Amino acid sequence: MVTEAAAFWNNKTLGEMSAEEWERLCDGCGRCCLHKLEDIDTGLFFYTNVACRLLDEESCRCMNYPDRLNIVHDCLHLSADDAGQLEWLPTSCAYRRLASGQPLEWWHPLVSGDPKTVHQAGISVRGKITSENAVTKEQLEDHVVHWIDF
Ligand code: SF4
Ligand code: SF4
Repeated sequence: MVTEAAAFWNNKTLGEMSAEEWERLCDGCGRCCLHKLEDIDTGLFFYTNVACRLLDEESCRCMNYPDRLNIVHDCLHLSADDAGQLEWLPTSCAYRRLASGQPLEWWHPLVSGDPKTVHQAGISVRGKITSENAVTKEQLEDHVVHWIDF
């Protein structure tokens, strides 16, 4: 078992992490895979409960992660440089938390040692979303939710 003191997420910056460590840092919440709306007057973002068509609604993971950027053209390859800059990332996001000097929460699978805790704590989108296949662009405003802080 990895002790907290020896944990890579406490001892390395985002930029120092290996590709494998970087991927393990994702808590699997699926929140960033929801459609967001931006108010052009205020610049404020709003999350909707409408998920990208590649998001598995049960696991809350991408169904084609290796090829996702070729399939979904507005899917983002998150980097260490922009983890602290993207205002629409949820405040619960592990990348955003570490970028702003905050620790990972107890429910993060790396901390708990259990991938189920992100669901048990109500952080993941499991049971709360609908696929973009069932919603038109015009209907997105009707799907704004307020259970994600960012
Ligand atoms: S919001 Fe962050 S932690 Fe959650 S799925 Fe997206 S990248 Fe991973
Ligand atoms: S392509 Fe995959 S990683 Fe990208 S937004 Fe869709 S579900 Fe998320």
